[in-house]
Formats: sequence, C-alpha cells, structure tokens
Amino acid sequence: LDYRDISENVVLKSHNAFNRKAALPVGAVQTVARLYDEQKELSQMLNTKRHARTAVGDRIRSLAKDPQRKQAALDEAKALKAEILELEDRATHLEEELHALALAIPNDTHPAVPIGPESVAVTLSTHGPELIPASPARDHVAICRALDLIDLEAGATVAGSSWYYLKNEGALLELALVNYALSTAMKHGFTPITTPDVVRSDIARRCGFQPRDPVDGTASQTYHLMHTADPAAAENHNHPELVLAGTAEIPLAGMFANRIFAANELPLKVVGLGHAFRAEAGARGADTRGLYRVHQFTKLELFALSEEEKSGEMMEEMRKLQTEIFEGLGLSFRVLEMPTEELGASAYRKYDAEAWMPGRGSWGEISSTSNCTDYQARRLHIRYRRPATTSSPSPADGAQSALPFVHTLNGTAAAVPRLIVALVENGAVFNDAGDVTGLRLPKALQPFWVGGNARGLI
Ligand code: AMP
Repeated sequence: LDYRDISENVVLKSHNAFNRKAALPVGAVQTVARLYDEQKELSQMLNTKRHARTAVGDRIRSLAKDPQRKQAALDEAKALKAEILELEDRATHLEEELHALALAIPNDTHPAVPIGPESVAVTLSTHGPELIPASPARDHVAICRALDLIDLEAGATVAGSSWYYLKNEGALLELALVNYALSTAMKHGFTPITTPDVVRSDIARRCGFQPRDPVDGTASQTYHLMHTADPAAAENHNHPELVLAGTAEIPLAGMFANRIFAANELPLKVVGLGHAFRAEAGARGADTRGLYRVHQFTKLELFALSEEEKSGEMMEEMRKLQTEIFEGLGLSFRVLEMPTEELGASAYRKYDAEAWMPGRGSWGEISSTSNCTDYQARRLHIRYRRPATTSSPSPADGAQSALPFVHTLNGTAAAVPRLIVALVENGAVFNDAGDVTGLRLPKALQPFWVGGNARGLI
C-alpha cells in the first residue's frame, strides 16, 4: 500500500472517504499519516542501532587481548540486541496497524462521478423498445407461478426465504442466458473460466470487501464457512477463514495474485461463471419478493486486467459489450453513472445498467461495471512490465517495486435472476381473459435453448 501517497494527501483522501460514506474508523486517514511518520522514525532508529551493533561486534573482535574492555563491549552488544528486538517488535505491530487501516481507505474517485447518494445518479444512455406500461398483472412471481417456472416454497423449506428453485423453462432460461452471454463475451475476446465459489476471506478483503464486522456497524453481507462443527476447534487448527464468494470478481481477481505480466499480455480479458452468495442482511420489502433479491444466484462476470493508461478505454469496451448483450435480449434499459456513495471501497468509477420491469413498476439494476484502477492490484500484488524504451529502460528483474500495478475492471455479463425478472415481466403473453398463456423470449436465446418447446409455452 502506498502510505506515502496517503500521507501526502490526507485532506483529499479524507474528503473522498467522506463523499463515499466509506466504512472507516474516525480519523483513519490522519492516523495512517501519523503512523507512517512513526514508522519512518522507527526504521531510522533501527538502522542506527543495527549499525552500532555491527560496530561493537567489530570492536569485540579487536579486543581479544583486553578482557576488561572486551567485557564492556560485550555488555554493550547485549544491551543493543535487546533494544533492537524491542524496536523490531514495535515495528511489526506498527506495520500491522498501519496496514489494516490503510487497507480500508477507499479508492480515489473519477472526477466525472456525481457526489451523493443513489438518487443523484446520471443517466448516460437509454436503449431498447418503448416501455410497457406498469401493471401488477406483469408481476414476475405471479407469472412464474402460473407457468410453473419457480418453486419458492420448496426453497423456503429447504434453505429459507429468498432461496428458490428454477423449474421447467425457468431452469432452461438460466442455462440459455449464461451460454448466450458467454458466447457474446467470447466473441469479443474474453476467455471463459469457471471459478471456485469459496474464497479465503483475506482475498475478499484485498478485493475491497469486508467479510467480517464492517466498521460502520452494519451486518456482514458475507456467508462464512466453518471447517468443523466446533468453531473453537477450527480456530485452534489455524485454518484460513473461508467465505462464500459474493461475486466471481473475487476469485477472478485472486486468480492473478502475485503475478507480473508483460505489457503485451494486457489487456487480459476473462469471463467467469460462478455463483454469487449474498446474506442480504437488512433487505426487506418488495425487493425480497420472488427472484429480485435472493441469497444465491448464477452470475457471469466480465473481468479484465489492463495497463494503467488504458483502463478507461477498457471500461467503455465492457459497457459496449453489456449493451450488446442486453439489446440482444430486447430489454428496455438505461446506463447510469453511479454517484460516490454507491462506489463501494474499490471502484474509481461505476456504471450500472437498469432494465424496465413493468410488474415491479420500476427500473431494476441488472448489471454493474467498475474500474477499480490499481486498488485491488496493490492489495493482490498484480504488476506488469512496460516495454523498455531508450529513455526509460525496463527495471531489472529484481526491481519489482518499480513495476506499475495493473488496473482491474469487472462487469456483470449476466446476473441470471434479474434477467429472468426482466424477461418474464416484459415477455409474458396473456389471453383475452387476462390469464398468462406463455412467454415471448428473444430470438437471440434460441441457439442456446436446450430441450425445445415441449410444453408449448415459448
Ligand atoms: P453487484 O456485484 O452487487 O454490483 O451485483 C451485480 C449484479 O448482480 C447486480 O447488478 C444485480 O443485477 C445482481 N444482483 C445483486 N444482488 C443480487 C441479489 N441479491 N439477488 C439477485 N441478483 C442480484
């Protein structure tokens, strides 16, 4: 972490953290600056003591024939050793404290980002057909029930509320959506990956998520795993703490930890298929009905590593690709520039896409794209080597600290349940009596649809 950058920009970073409503202890940025000063002082003291000890060592060797002075030098060496050990111990604790605080400081913010809550988001573009008028008859839960596409009751029995089963064309829709979005991403050079759904909590933290006890006192949104039924035993065995991934962004970013890339390997573009697990603590109301806000969902995630100067361009490339995916699905949607309070810890800039959902009578978020600049790469140690030029030769292999960090970006290609809500609420077909008789689905899904139209609903 760049403690110097934080120390030199205390006002800016504090102001930024305030604008983003970052979950930070009071005065955290100032504390980092103070601890950094202490660390520098401590390191100077340590250097002085270590030099003194080397000098005493030399003296001891030269005093072989003078036992009295030798003993005095030996005593001095012993005292210095104790002092050094104590200083080293202080330095370790200081570094731990400094690191923990600095980790929680959010990324800087792009100048175009509006300051404030979700309500001040700026619409960047709108797409798709004219909006279907809002109508309770288009509620996705009622339609899915009528067409036997979901089983929420079984989900509640087996796992609890906001867990669900997809059935019949509902299950097929998930597979078709994933493969449609996957093939579109692959067409644009994204490499397919399937990810682990479980990650070490440390990796999640390095990606900007706080899996345990967020400092603002809100409940954790992360599911924790225990290796044994007895938490004390788990702790004693020193197992790494494991959590269910809230998004494939975490295992995808973690996949490249500690790597150094050649500039010509960038941008590195992958598309990861995983399950996202969200505790959704505190979520209530209409959002938690049906499939809109659930605890587990299949998500296809775009992820890219880019050179630092090119991450803005990469973000636009992701936005274009998402637009292609959602336009192909015939959705009415808009893309928003999200304000500071919606950026989380890691995003420098974030675009959300929202689709019109006439049964809910509102726009609903279907995707989110973030440029995290070097925030995650610093914490995960992902660097790259610029091509050497005559004016600035590439650093030697050993000089890793001189290598720049990559920029990381992530964006939703398909968050399945939200797409199902949008497709069902917009595509339901009714008879004259107002009963749901089928579902009009976009042609783009046809090549990815397995099992035909056995029930004649599509
Ligand atoms: P996020 O990583 O929170 O930006 O989420 C990425 C996308 O996943 C969002 O744009 C939503 O489409 C979708 N999503 C987020 N949370 C949930 C949830 N609890 N249930 C269903 N879909 C969700």
